[in-house]
Amino acid sequence: MKTPKPAKVLVIGSAEGRVIEALEYIADLHKTHNFKFAICLGNLFTRKTPSAVVSKLKSEKFLVPLPVYFGVGSAGMPESVTSHMAMFGPEVCPNLFCMGICGFMKTYSRFTIAQLGGTYDEVKYNEPMNKREKSLTERSFHITDVQTLSKRCDVLFSNSWPENVQNNSTLPHRNLPSGCAPVAALAANCMPQYFFVPSPVYYEREPYRNCAVNVQAGTVSRFFGIAPFKNSVGEKFAYAFTLNPLTSEYVRDIPPNCTASPFVMRPIPLKRASSEQVIPPPDSPISTESGFARFKKPKVGPDACFFCLSNPSISLHLIAAIGNEAYMALPKGPLTTKDTNVPELPFPAHVLIIPIAHTSALSLLSDTSYKNTVEELHRFREAVTLMYNEHNSDAIVYEISRANGVHVHWQVIPIPKALSSKALDYFTNQAKESGFAFEHRDLRSHELNYFRVFLPTGEILVHTLSLRERFDLQFGRRVTAKILGIEDRVDWRLCSQTEEEEKKDAEDFKSYFKPYDFT
Ligand SMILES: [Zn+2]
Repeated sequence: MKTPKPAKVLVIGSAEGRVIEALEYIADLHKTHNFKFAICLGNLFTRKTPSAVVSKLKSEKFLVPLPVYFGVGSAGMPESVTSHMAMFGPEVCPNLFCMGICGFMKTYSRFTIAQLGGTYDEVKYNEPMNKREKSLTERSFHITDVQTLSKRCDVLFSNSWPENVQNNSTLPHRNLPSGCAPVAALAANCMPQYFFVPSPVYYEREPYRNCAVNVQAGTVSRFFGIAPFKNSVGEKFAYAFTLNPLTSEYVRDIPPNCTASPFVMRPIPLKRASSEQVIPPPDSPISTESGFARFKKPKVGPDACFFCLSNPSISLHLIAAIGNEAYMALPKGPLTTKDTNVPELPFPAHVLIIPIAHTSALSLLSDTSYKNTVEELHRFREAVTLMYNEHNSDAIVYEISRANGVHVHWQVIPIPKALSSKALDYFTNQAKESGFAFEHRDLRSHELNYFRVFLPTGEILVHTLSLRERFDLQFGRRVTAKILGIEDRVDWRLCSQTEEEEKKDAEDFKSYFKPYDFT
């Protein structure tokens, strides 16, 4: 398949039924700008648009000189358009495409556009499918519409606003439509390059990063609210831009004013509908080491990865802190408990430090991303270690890095200070029993396949994993359990907790970690 070339695109605000005027405006600008396509937000048509307008569009004299896309706004569609669509499909007249309540299209210039039309009505949104008549006269969107559209696209436009779009923004707070959760969830899932909504005023948010995906892949999103077409108060109602393909040739640097996504931390009320996606078993969100073993095949992408924040199935209540390049989450089935820890640390305190980018090994990241990610992983490690230290404990930190792994992470487990001096012997002896010897060193540059431990004494042990080596994924946990004398807790599945217990542990962790939290 050929990749697209950069395309100039025009987006205009809601025309409130002034169809002909809006299309003439677009055609006029097109003469000098040569756009590849245009988008009309909000109500290009309304229910009351006279049928004479539709007749005029269909007459041979009227020409739409470039593809123009629009959806259902808040004011519905005239009968003349819905009946035309029922018979002839989405092309109302040559080059004018109605995307309905829910539409996904590939443009002639091979970009993808997703559109969610209509308004948000909580009752109708959740209505069982059998009660819902799928018709062209629908005025509000349904949960299945959001699910259908939840796949990567270049441009997303919706009639409704996402909620909390100003989260993480450093711009002065604006009085904007409050929006709704499903559209925010949709934006988080689509990761569009551009996201437009019709707006009473012009609003341009700083670009934000869809943090769950590798930064190099061009995951910056830009959000715009466009004011009504030819409004009387002089607000900007048209926006032109160049849309670049998401290929390495066109990837730009992350803009300096880029923020974290306003949508990332929201629970996403979706079950992913696309058949291409691998859905993990519902009972095993963030697991500890075993994620590697169970998901070798098929290849796990960010959507199905236990450690990717974009995976709608991950347990958000286990997340303890989110930085720019990495985050911390409590594991399912922690090795330690309040009873195995010293009295000063009356909760499990076992935590994972996870790069936000979906990568099986740190050395597979680009140089800049590697540097920033490793720096932040250490920052988290040092912060947690300090928290342990001030509570009469030390940290054992270990990592398995493998090119064919899923999503690399660091396990951080507290041990009482009284046991710290024994750690080196235990790791050395257990390695010997397993038939290998550790090297006392840190990583070489671009080292890919290895097991690494940071000991309380500051020593670092590395074992290079050879291609066919059957390395015990529980090795780090097994040795730490031995040091602590709790070998009955090696298998994390036997340590699983109720969600209530997990929530309490997460709260405890966060409150103890607060003085050390730099995020
Ligand atoms: Zn991942």
